[in-house]
Amino acid sequence: MTSKNTFDVIILGAGISGLSAAMHCIKLGKTPILVESTGNIGGRARSFEDRVSGDIIDNGQHVMMGCYASFLELIQEMGMMHAMQKQKYLSIPFHFMNGEKDILLAKGIAGFNGPLGMALGMLRLRFIQFADKKSLLLFALRLQLGMCRPGSMTAKEFLLSEKQTDTLIELIWTPVILATMNGKPDEVSAKVFVTVLRLAFFGSGDASSLYIPKCGLSELFEPFEAWLNSHGGIMLRSNGVSSILIEHGIAKGVALADGTVLSSARIISAIPPHALQKIIPHEIQQYEYFSELGQIGYSPIISLYLWFDKAFPEIELSAIMHANTQWIFKKSTMMKTAKSLLALTISAGDDIIGISTEDIAQQCADEVRNCFPEMQDAQVIHWKVIKEKSATVLIDPETEDIRPKQQSPIDGLILAGDWTNTGLPATLEGAALSGKIAASLL
Ligand SMILES: Cc1cc2nc3c(=O)[nH]c(=O)nc-3n(C[C@H](O)[C@H](O)[C@H](O)COP(=O)(O)OP(=O)(O)OC[C@H]3O[C@@H](n4cnc5c(N)ncnc54)[C@H](O)[C@@H]3O)c2cc1C
Repeated sequence: MTSKNTFDVIILGAGISGLSAAMHCIKLGKTPILVESTGNIGGRARSFEDRVSGDIIDNGQHVMMGCYASFLELIQEMGMMHAMQKQKYLSIPFHFMNGEKDILLAKGIAGFNGPLGMALGMLRLRFIQFADKKSLLLFALRLQLGMCRPGSMTAKEFLLSEKQTDTLIELIWTPVILATMNGKPDEVSAKVFVTVLRLAFFGSGDASSLYIPKCGLSELFEPFEAWLNSHGGIMLRSNGVSSILIEHGIAKGVALADGTVLSSARIISAIPPHALQKIIPHEIQQYEYFSELGQIGYSPIISLYLWFDKAFPEIELSAIMHANTQWIFKKSTMMKTAKSLLALTISAGDDIIGISTEDIAQQCADEVRNCFPEMQDAQVIHWKVIKEKSATVLIDPETEDIRPKQQSPIDGLILAGDWTNTGLPATLEGAALSGKIAASLL
């Protein structure tokens, strides 16, 4: 049993928001105890060994960007930057089902990438007509000048109001929205979408460059516990919080699944909204701040791994157009495995989630063969489909309105998590930033 004098703050959940909160507590001179209900670290960003192939695969391919300042700070602190492959500038090949291809290279002049690089990259795209390029660039300019007013619109309503044509919405904005917000254009909040565009796609320097882990996600975060211990922090795994103890509106501590009680007047809850609802006392659930948690909905992600008997072309990743598959990542290059292993992703896959895993694997393998003529005779030797029904919260305009700030009405109880109000989508960066804000509120 842990002595109550060895820590200053209790953090619930060892996902990215919990890790970030713990790191920032330490930087602010507070010693945390991190309590995680599973045996894992990294929460929804984790990897495991595929039993058949013996390869390490993630619960879903994760991609980061140069603008992920809070997340990269965490990776840097753990000494794991070497495990991240960084693009010099955003480079996205597009592949179409008829075998045609194009590429977006956000490469500026004389090393100045940023908005200029993105504009030049868009101008060079062959699959966009000149008239569409003009409206694209005008929109980019309006964004840069802060002239866009998304209000409480959905991204689609907003894009139409900004005179973006159906072609632009389908071929440019839908892939961006699916990848960054795990929702469809007619669902997600335009306000958050505008933030994504400003910070990531039209942000300065290398904000839009992609970072892809060269190892399994769990390997990326595994050094955290040793780092935490070396700074006086403690981690408890496989012993979740069963209730948060609150008296007269003041946080007092937590009770753990094994019956242990940890006392502290400072608690950071870095767990998802549905998990939090289960552990706050009944009378506290009546507070408007907590009662709205039940209204937050989720969006699924379907991830596939396909092992082929034939080497895949020399590309690291590709955006797939007019198909169920949205992105392909060549794992064998990134993780240096000898096999021809691809990771495929389908975000906001509500229409796909009910299809059998066999059919999903077969359809997506056919899409790979259609997009890459070199793969036409390639056979799938093994496949794995992972359906994450509640992959992330869906940030639609209504959810954006009720996303809680990190400071709760309970004295000493602060919330973190990708779903809390950071102004960002529910991503690794949203999670890391929420942890940083939560620590600063202590
Ligand atoms: C398939 C998939 C693909 C994704 N791709 C990307 C991507 O490419 N880029 C990107 O930026 N983001 C991506 N995301 C989103 C990203 O993974 C999440 O935004 C982020 O991991 C959320 O971190 P978190 O700390 O907020 O929550 P979580 O990761 O959910 O962490 C919460 C932790 O709390 C623990 N917990 C729950 N209840 C309790 C309790 N009572 N007591 C103690 N512990 C508890 C859980 O076990 C968990 O470890 C993806 C997500 C999925 C599922």
